[in-house]
Amino acid sequence: MIEVEGLIFDYPAKRALDGVSFSIAPGTVTALVGPNGAGKTTLLRCLASLEVPYAGTVRLGGIDTAEEPRRARRLLGFLDEFFGLYDDLTVFRCLLYWAGAHGVPGDQAQAARDAATRLGLGDRLEEKAGGLSRGLRQRLAIAQAIIHRPRILLMDEPASGLDPEARAGLADLIRGLQSEGMTVVVSSHILAELEDYSSHMLIVDNGRIVDHAPIGGREPGHVPTRRLRLVLAGAADPSALLAGYADVVVGPDGHSATFDFPGDLAAQAALLRDLVGRGLPVAALAEDHGSLQDRYLEKVRAART
Ligand code: ATP
Repeated sequence: MIEVEGLIFDYPAKRALDGVSFSIAPGTVTALVGPNGAGKTTLLRCLASLEVPYAGTVRLGGIDTAEEPRRARRLLGFLDEFFGLYDDLTVFRCLLYWAGAHGVPGDQAQAARDAATRLGLGDRLEEKAGGLSRGLRQRLAIAQAIIHRPRILLMDEPASGLDPEARAGLADLIRGLQSEGMTVVVSSHILAELEDYSSHMLIVDNGRIVDHAPIGGREPGHVPTRRLRLVLAGAADPSALLAGYADVVVGPDGHSATFDFPGDLAAQAALLRDLVGRGLPVAALAEDHGSLQDRYLEKVRAART
């Protein structure tokens, strides 16, 4: 769905992208991560054909963005890191404007209301964009970016400024968009949140791709594999209990372990029931959220040595 080949982008005194190549499959959610100044925003802007690279190609759905930018952009929704809104328009008018600009078929007013509801703005349709708080402005910008139901959605730091409830809502939204078949690329520094909904991680550092890999088998159509952490009370040893699971790593304390669990929440609940039913002193069985962060740090450090 997204194919990038040999991308080079120069600012006057800085090479921001230095031979970037990767491809992203349809229906995936890619977490674009990297240190400050790594080149994430520049890469997203090149994908959106808002910047013209010095060399290399970007294809969206097979369309070369340099040759046919208008056709390629029809596939796209884009949330810029520093977006602008029409401050004198109401939320409803902003969304109606974008529905019109994108040529949304059918009832555009209904599309505007639906997008507002999806982002929790259904009760603010008549408020002016200029009077919204930072987080509500962010939500309106996201609603604008998805109103035409694009096949590809690029979002630069969408969680910035959102309150915890809205962040959880954003994760639900992204999972929902993926289930509708949308291909999503989202940049953020909040790895624990990205881990909740991303199927792949693309790490950029100093203008180069450092790593690009699926996150724990979350590609569409696969049984989700998640990294779980089992903690037993006292001196109990978890390794024998987890012998059937892949990549079991026992903690230094000897009574906790992380392992790859190939199942959903219901399967996790069944495992917990089984362990407790056998009289084992289970203190915790939960997703191990440190793993994406650990892998990120490991890859970025390895790239610098
Ligand atoms: P952050 O996480 O801080 O948002 P980023 O990964 O999005 O960073 P970019 O904004 O793409 O990084 O910047 C990549 C490099 O290009 C940085 O070294 C930055 O200083 C430089 N750069 C970005 N915009 C410009 C510009 N307009 N003129 C000159 N250099 C720029």
